[in-house]
Amino acid sequence: MNTTCACGQSYEAPEKKPPDFLSFLDRPECCPACTVRQDAEDDEADRRMEAEQREKQAARNEAAVDRIIPPRLRLTDPADARFNSVLWDQVTAWQPTAEKPWLGLVGETGESKTRCAYLRLRQFAREAALAERPFHGAMISGMEFARAVVEQYREEGSGKVLREARTAGILVFDELGKVKATAGVMDELFALIDHRHAHNLVTIWTGNAGPQEFCTAWPEEYAGPGCGRILEASVVVG
Ligand SMILES: [Zn+2]
Repeated sequence: MNTTCACGQSYEAPEKKPPDFLSFLDRPECCPACTVRQDAEDDEADRRMEAEQREKQAARNEAAVDRIIPPRLRLTDPADARFNSVLWDQVTAWQPTAEKPWLGLVGETGESKTRCAYLRLRQFAREAALAERPFHGAMISGMEFARAVVEQYREEGSGKVLREARTAGILVFDELGKVKATAGVMDELFALIDHRHAHNLVTIWTGNAGPQEFCTAWPEEYAGPGCGRILEASVVVG
């Protein structure tokens, strides 16, 4: 049947199907050229909507990272002159690999290491959302870790904090060298290092010194194996 499209083009329309309960979804019929154009427009609209969804998820992931870091660090602006841009360039250039899934930031006391670690975690959160991968990040400091170990049987939340740190897909462990090397704390710390090392879990740690130095304060049975695992898994910058 010869029909005229809304665009003015006349074309041979296919025979109409009898209407059914889904007919309200049918687009008005049009010529082949208009059909191609409309299909392309629909695809483009779908792509735009998917990109918007990913962008929304990225913002949610970033907000989730912001909630787990100390408020003082949320104010980080990489353009801030106090920010260590040399270190930041090294940190952003780093990509975890199966062989070296850890990044160590070693240097003097100051907030740049922690800030860089936190901002990298935030980037990972965003990248995961844009690639439609799940994101599970955690952040803990040496002091918080030691406190959580001591309180794990008294405070319900502390056991959860320790489990999160051990199993998170990406962990920032700030001031790893400052964990107080008491027996109970060291058992737990070594278990974390061993688990994350064995499972190639991405880990960013900071310290005023490298593990060759801070592990010497650890009990003998953990000093060698702990230092060995950290060095084996880590790219160290700073
Ligand atoms: Zn047309």
